[in-house]
Amino acid sequence: MNIQTILEEISDEVNSLLGRGSVANYIPALAIADPTKFGMAVATVDGGLYSVGDAQDYFSIQSISKIFALTQAFAIQQDDLWRRVSRENAGNELNSLLQLELGMGQPRNPLTNAGAMVTTDIILSAKGKDTKASLLEFIQERSGNKSLGFNEEIAQLEIAHGHRTKAFAHLIASFRNLENHPQTVAMLYFYQCAIEANCIDLAKSVLFLTNRGCCPVSNKQILSASQVKRINSILLTCGHYDVSGDFAFRVGLPGKSSISGAIVSVVPGKMAIAAWSPALGKDGVSLVASEALELFAAKTGQSIF
Ligand code: GLU
Repeated sequence: MNIQTILEEISDEVNSLLGRGSVANYIPALAIADPTKFGMAVATVDGGLYSVGDAQDYFSIQSISKIFALTQAFAIQQDDLWRRVSRENAGNELNSLLQLELGMGQPRNPLTNAGAMVTTDIILSAKGKDTKASLLEFIQERSGNKSLGFNEEIAQLEIAHGHRTKAFAHLIASFRNLENHPQTVAMLYFYQCAIEANCIDLAKSVLFLTNRGCCPVSNKQILSASQVKRINSILLTCGHYDVSGDFAFRVGLPGKSSISGAIVSVVPGKMAIAAWSPALGKDGVSLVASEALELFAAKTGQSIF
């Protein structure tokens, strides 16, 4: 299988779709993204790296950061994590305070904003004032790119506009499912979302999910093989908002989408893939990045099924 050739074919094939859909506009810093950008990168467990298009362009990783928060919280709290956050798809109640209320402050899964409040809270209890730095260091170490940083403007805009997310944090706290102040937890969540990376960094940074929990970039064991199996299961069932079933159907691989138009996906034992194109469909998933991943799975025959 010639991965580079396949990426170039995909880039040609999605070209006519570029510009369809619309970029996220809830904050101005995302609304200015160029909808015609497309990049894709593949990192293999044995050190191979392939990329095409705008794979070196930086964007805020947004919800993809929830994978890293979940990973760190799982490493800290082990199976006790599941007393505080469930692992069911949130369905069309993804952003629902009502659902959280009915769940007595236990978020449906760690990839919702409510779930990220809990995972971030766990990291904050363990790391204290070093939390913000450690969130960044985690992705720097996984990707091997020490120059990654926060986009301060995006972080501040998210903090200013993220009323619903702050409401989640307060509601969870009212059920005594946060150990730290909800405003601090929400603020640290917004900073994670504002970490900037490119497709190459992102593909490398999730390689530990393909390698039984060992990060091949830093050669560190991050989680056990069994824990990674659980994270990949959650990525498959909950990684793409209300259309996680559709993504599983089309691509057949665990993955996670972000509102900035990126998607990461993993082929256990083999490789990690990141695709990015800022224009989203109505479901909040990048139109072209999801199409590119579907093409990649079809052309390479890679699937977990
Ligand atoms: N910062 C965004 C939010 O909290 C992330 C959303 C996403 O990527 O899904 O709403």
